[in-house]
Amino acid sequence: MSKDILNFINGEYVKNASGKTYEKRNPVDDSLVGMVYEAGKPEVDAAVAAARAALHGPWGKLSVVDRCNMLDGLVDEINRRFDDFLQAEIADTGKPAHLASHVDIPRGAANFKIFTDTIKNASTESFEMTTPDGKTARSYGVRVPRGVIAIICPWNLPLLLMTWKAGPALACGNTVVVKPSEATPSTATLLGEVMNKVGIPKGVYNVVNGFGVDSAGSFLTAHPDVNGITFTGETKTGTAIMKAGADGIRPVSLELGGKNAAIVFADCDFDNAVATVTRSCFENAGQVCLGTERVYVERPIFDKFVAALKEKAEGMKPGRPFDADTKIGPLVSKIHQKKVLSYYQKAKDEGATIVTGGGVPDMPDDLKGGCWVQPTIWTGLPETASVVTEEVFGPCCHIRPFDSEEEVVNMANKNRYGLATSIHTQDIGRAMRLASAIEVGLCWINSWFLRDLRTPFGGSKQSGIGREGGLHSLEFYTELRNVMIKY
Ligand code: NAD
Repeated sequence: MSKDILNFINGEYVKNASGKTYEKRNPVDDSLVGMVYEAGKPEVDAAVAAARAALHGPWGKLSVVDRCNMLDGLVDEINRRFDDFLQAEIADTGKPAHLASHVDIPRGAANFKIFTDTIKNASTESFEMTTPDGKTARSYGVRVPRGVIAIICPWNLPLLLMTWKAGPALACGNTVVVKPSEATPSTATLLGEVMNKVGIPKGVYNVVNGFGVDSAGSFLTAHPDVNGITFTGETKTGTAIMKAGADGIRPVSLELGGKNAAIVFADCDFDNAVATVTRSCFENAGQVCLGTERVYVERPIFDKFVAALKEKAEGMKPGRPFDADTKIGPLVSKIHQKKVLSYYQKAKDEGATIVTGGGVPDMPDDLKGGCWVQPTIWTGLPETASVVTEEVFGPCCHIRPFDSEEEVVNMANKNRYGLATSIHTQDIGRAMRLASAIEVGLCWINSWFLRDLRTPFGGSKQSGIGREGGLHSLEFYTELRNVMIKY
């Protein structure tokens, strides 16, 4: 049954002045999820005004402990409504229920608690000095909220990536206006109900739905009363967001695209390497910023590795999210399916050997309208080929043999992105050498997607600016004020 997906402004669900709506369709079968009410300038203005007013209302007067206790209540309430969040996330993304119920919803909820624990234990520096007239002075730092934070989100892990930003922003005492992806508006919108239920004051959390250019996204990032913009999405969009932030000298935090390499040495634990690379290439239908799209395998095990990955890829059964044997869901939208299939065509045109996949799987009649693509593996392309240099963001990878450490480091680094890598070897010295040499923000050894949320997360080169996670999030979500006392 379809529903209306509204904006959440100042504690209330509202439509819009323009009457403009768009259809949100389920990527599994193209059924209608709901009509989304696109926020225009009036709604964005109202959301920012509500967030500004809330900074100076009851929210701004809470002690850190009271604020954090209130935010911890969100975790309990999201977990109490786990099924509602699960259904909403799955209707928007089509991802398998086992994935959403183990990753998206629990980690989306846990992000609030991670950052309340962080802020309660964050310290600041203090120095004493003697003044020229022989007195004493002491200075100390105070962390103050940055103000109204605009949060612009992608569609691949909608709740999790949004609370990864809303969690620290709110824990630090800011107020937020969230612009979810147009493709996945539901869970951010639903979270408004949870905010009201646990008593978060009106205006602290706001959601404006709509698109980027000439819509809610650009109206929000251009708004002069926004004090900081935090964004996850494509590098091209990040460039536009950074330009918007330049007006008014507003800081930006950018988590952007990647073209991540997995490097597999002949001495690896073979089964673990195959299982891990299978996940990093195909989990969430390849729609993970940290996912692998370039695989480099040391020549002695190249053929064996390609055959093993092929078998795994062909075992990834596409299907309905709640079917127990479903291993892979559809892509998020027709637009994204078209983009990924255009890369499948380019790979063919540029001379790839298609090891497996390369097209659309044959689905039952009731799922034929969905946004399906086959898990795909290519070999034989030069390092300059489109699918080896550009982010596809689908369930696909190119595999290439290598002969030396130096050669593979050069190939891994020869890319404008620098988000993540994973290295598979039993030689710890070699693993540590490569971890230093590869230009990325995140490096996994014999693993992938394993996260300790106290550690820095972010990309190098064109994969981002800034680090979020643990204390690193405080760099963006607070400002340090120095106080000097002479006595
Ligand atoms: P996208 O850049 O197309 O859109 C992201 C958001 O920006 C959407 O909400 C969109 O409406 C909004 N937007 C678009 N243009 C805008 C503009 N001019 N002004 C303001 N807002 C605008 O990204 P996507 O397709 O939703 O997500 C996929 C991308 O996200 C991939 O490149 C992926 O690598 C990246 N990603 C990165 C990370 C990370 O942590 N580095 C995590 C997840 C996804």
